[in-house]
Amino acid sequence: MEKNLSKTYDPKQFEDRLYEQWEKSGAFHGKRDKSKSPFTIVMPPPNITGQLHMGHALDHTLQDVLTRWKRMQGFDTLWLPGSDHASIATEVKVADKIRTEEGKTKEDLGREEFLKRAWEWKKTYGGKITEQCRKLGDSCDWERERFTMDEGCNKAVIEFFVRLYEKDLIYKGNRIINWCPSCGTSLSDAEVEHDDKNSKYYYVRYPGEDGSQGIVVATSRPETMFGDVAIAVNPADERYENLIGKTVLLPIVGKAIPILADPYPDPEKGTGAVKITPAHDPNDFEVGLRHDLPQPSCINEDATMNALAGKYEGMDRYECRKAWISDLEAAGYLVKVEDMVIPVGECYRCKDAVEPMLSEQWFVRMEALAKPAMEAAAKGDLTHVPERFEKIYLHWLEEIRDWCISRQLWWGHRIPAYYCDDCNEIMVAREAPESCTKCGSKNLRQDEDVLDTWFSSALWPFSTLGWPEKTPDLEHYFPTDVLVTGYDIIFFWVVRMVFSSLEMMDEVPFHHVYVHGLVRDGEGRKMSKSLGNGIDPLEIIDQYGTDALRFMLATGISPGSDIRFKLDRLESCRNFANKLWNASRFVIMNLLDEEGNFLPMAEESNGIEKLSLKDEDKWILTKLNEAVAEVATNMENYDLALAGQKVYELIWNEYCDWYIELVKARLYGEDEADKQVARFVLVKVLKDMLALLHPFMPFITEEIWSFLPGNGEMLIVAPWPVHSKALDFSEESRRMELAMEIIRSIRNIRAEADAVPSRKLRAVILSTGEALEAVKAGESYLKNLANLTEVRFIDDKAQIPEEVMSAVVDGAEIFIPLDDLLDYKAEYQRLEKEKAKLEGERSKLSAKLDNPGFVSKAPEAVVAAEREKLAKAGSMLEKVEERLSVVKQKI
Ligand SMILES: [Zn+2]
Ligand SMILES: [Zn+2]
Repeated sequence: MEKNLSKTYDPKQFEDRLYEQWEKSGAFHGKRDKSKSPFTIVMPPPNITGQLHMGHALDHTLQDVLTRWKRMQGFDTLWLPGSDHASIATEVKVADKIRTEEGKTKEDLGREEFLKRAWEWKKTYGGKITEQCRKLGDSCDWERERFTMDEGCNKAVIEFFVRLYEKDLIYKGNRIINWCPSCGTSLSDAEVEHDDKNSKYYYVRYPGEDGSQGIVVATSRPETMFGDVAIAVNPADERYENLIGKTVLLPIVGKAIPILADPYPDPEKGTGAVKITPAHDPNDFEVGLRHDLPQPSCINEDATMNALAGKYEGMDRYECRKAWISDLEAAGYLVKVEDMVIPVGECYRCKDAVEPMLSEQWFVRMEALAKPAMEAAAKGDLTHVPERFEKIYLHWLEEIRDWCISRQLWWGHRIPAYYCDDCNEIMVAREAPESCTKCGSKNLRQDEDVLDTWFSSALWPFSTLGWPEKTPDLEHYFPTDVLVTGYDIIFFWVVRMVFSSLEMMDEVPFHHVYVHGLVRDGEGRKMSKSLGNGIDPLEIIDQYGTDALRFMLATGISPGSDIRFKLDRLESCRNFANKLWNASRFVIMNLLDEEGNFLPMAEESNGIEKLSLKDEDKWILTKLNEAVAEVATNMENYDLALAGQKVYELIWNEYCDWYIELVKARLYGEDEADKQVARFVLVKVLKDMLALLHPFMPFITEEIWSFLPGNGEMLIVAPWPVHSKALDFSEESRRMELAMEIIRSIRNIRAEADAVPSRKLRAVILSTGEALEAVKAGESYLKNLANLTEVRFIDDKAQIPEEVMSAVVDGAEIFIPLDDLLDYKAEYQRLEKEKAKLEGERSKLSAKLDNPGFVSKAPEAVVAAEREKLAKAGSMLEKVEERLSVVKQKI
């Protein structure tokens, strides 16, 4: 058995091994221990199609930091992992695979066979991302791993649907939905991204039926004109007062449509007159309802034109637009064309332009559900960290429209609605009915569509704990404590979990929403496939180790803000790990005898404060104690970055840079009792620091911990350090800091004077009163760490020696004689060299000027210049010799 850490820090040697050890030990498992308070987080389920990216790495690091911290605090922690079936994304992937490998479409295979393939795909690839999560060190409970389409979650989805339907919160209706022609499915509002596009406004004249000029309308989508059923004008718009009630003709087509008054048209926009196409625009749809207008469609689901478009039937929508406009122009109906920037809705998956379409779909009625979700935030049952995200949450809820939940896909939860082919009765049921409840017919068929993926993830915080059953897990762990998520899915996910939970569980699903930002590249750009600027966390882990990556992510953020991924920061995090490793190795080396057994250490049984502690011991214990308190506050406030930085400073600046140096002389000294105290404090502080750092850097801390004296318990379940009043040695600590301040200033003087650290110095310190006592107490530290042969105390300015370099600290002035700082021997040698060089130059110049040939032939100016040089060399030589004789006396 190795007794000490290996020479160099190499995370590959232990990260995987420790992860396995933790998992096997059962430390990740939620024990449902009634004697402890629970602490629960549900993991946002990554898509089974997903690859681990930096966003996950950040999200998971934050969740793991919280989980490990709470576990060490003695909570019964449960971090529940799982994955999402990702309806559209998976269906597209599987369909692509079948197309490339077999040349078939999903329709060729049929629903049953396609689903079989999809499950196979899930079995092969779906576990990849959870495997990758282990590399991040996620201490989640794999025994409770769930999948949004597993049996329990499936049951929960059906139950949720049926209950909402029974309360009339789900309905089937004709609505304008967002349709993606490429994916062949409807999209929820949140699945549509809006992008400003250069487009055009076409001004088209609709002639009057009576042969008059008619009316001019501006439209960006002339291809939808075939679905026009009216022209609307604002009743307050005086320009059109006389036209209301008149009839115009759809140009070229010749169909007669009315001009009607409605508050929807904005007189300031375009011509103030608007064409009404209820089947292809959500606003027009509403206008149509108000005036009881028909709803003809002119575009097919694949974005080609239908029969209503006449000779353009079968053309793609954009192709039709072109042909139609040129025909309108030729016929004299196109008045003008304007360039315009128009927001265009795009499918979040394939970026195809979304087509608003009239369609029969299932909807969740949102008004009644949104209200309690807003109240929960107002009452403080649900808080956002940082607070500003509450506004966004509320905004979404205020603006919410009915949620279209049906999707024209196969991979997902099939809608539990059944239709009677004989009497058209609709039945919604937990189990497929045998016969029609109205007419008794057995000709039933289930709805072909599946539910929106978010319909199942909305239930995640309670479906994963066993709902709709009343399981012991649900009772113990629900509601969960905190949801950690990126701000980009507040609406998609957070809002929906909250209203679903309030409706089904009568409680919020979590008390806090901890919102973090995105990981951007070094230039601040979003990481994306198309930019090719994504950074694979697994590659980073391979190069730098998991701990360095985690520490960089956790300390690089402030809540809610984006983080930039920078390699130099990552490197400095790895350097930090290195520093900790080397310092620990040094400590362990000094704890062992020649056989590799632990040397005796002082014991804290009567309280640490009862030991014969030196000032430096009291100082580091005080610093540790302060850090413990500060870290606790930061963690409670979700300021994880500040907590991590505090631990970093304690380890690097205080323990490694100072304490180890201060204590070295004692470790090598003769006083056995004092040695034992020194060992004890070294180990005590190191162990507590490792504990504080563990949530951030779990691997290196556990590895070091295993080499330190202890009871064999792993760090992952060791107790979290708590602040102790008995360890506040403020007076000794202040004294120590004064000594350190003086040492630092002497080191600065050395650096300025270019004097090497090994050079012995004498110091004169001017100080009086209390400060003098404090400085005197630290005299031995000064001598050791500033390498002084003598410290002389003076209390009067008149006693300050001449020729000194000086520094001022709070309470003392420090003077170091120049004679001590300057290295006269080296200076003498340098001057000797200088002298030889000048002598050589002088003799060369004299020889030249003594040569009559040169003096007579060379131009007068050249000769004069040479004479000048000779004189200069002579005078410099004189000065060097003078300085040499001074320096000679100092040696
Ligand atoms: Zn699409
Ligand atoms: Zn029936």
